[in-house]
Amino acid sequence: MEQKNARDVSMITLHDVTKVYEHGTHPAIDHLSLQIDGGEFVFVVGDSGSGKTTLVELLLKELNPTSGQIMVNGKNLDKLHGGRIAKYRRGIGVVFQDFRLLKDRNVYDNIAFAQRVIEKSNRFIKKRVPEVLTLVGLADKYRSYPKELSGGEQQRVALARAIVNRPAILLADEPTGNLDPKNSEEIMHLLEEINMRGTTVLVVTHNREIVNTMRKRVIRLRKGVIVSDEKEGVYVED
Ligand code: ADP
Ligand code: MG
Repeated sequence: MEQKNARDVSMITLHDVTKVYEHGTHPAIDHLSLQIDGGEFVFVVGDSGSGKTTLVELLLKELNPTSGQIMVNGKNLDKLHGGRIAKYRRGIGVVFQDFRLLKDRNVYDNIAFAQRVIEKSNRFIKKRVPEVLTLVGLADKYRSYPKELSGGEQQRVALARAIVNRPAILLADEPTGNLDPKNSEEIMHLLEEINMRGTTVLVVTHNREIVNTMRKRVIRLRKGVIVSDEKEGVYVED
């Protein structure tokens, strides 16, 4: 996915989106409309079950909405089919709570893998992987295997992998959920750094302290509905 030059151009637009799961008792996402511009950093907060992960999966087209329209980086997700879906997903960086690294490959290969998938040359990969490892502060760990790394280090590798192909958008679903406060803060600052380099960043989190310190846009969900959306927002108790 090409990165857009202009800021303030919609990167993510949801128009009246509803998602009802097959055996769901209520909509996981309920007539939700939302716009996120290119270059924004957004926190999505809300209690467990409020629809945060469903929102991320809709943006990745791992789920399709029951109704409504989703546009991402100029593409109407409803119109994507077949091989175009895989290509679309490869243009989005994703980070999860549980890191999801390949256990039988070292750090270098975990990241290089994402580049081989899009057929980058070995020469290019050899130059690019150290760049992203340096950005996340792990240049000296490229030969380590995931089990030899701390949780914070594993998440930094996952972040490096997520950005190695220079995605226009980075989605992180509770990226600090398994980390201690110090590592959580480091990961959030890396996300901020990635954002400052031009990537639109959406972070689902429960980490009140960090949300309240960073003062970014905060979208709060409750039962699939946006109950507040504030610039430089805070994460208050319900
Ligand atoms: P969050 O990430 O905010 O905890 P989710 O998006 O995972 O919330 O879930 C939103 C709602 O959808 C919850 O009520 C949850 O039980 C329901 N849900 C999630 N996944 C499924 C599924 N595969 N089938 C049925 N209901 C689901
Ligand atoms: Mg979730």
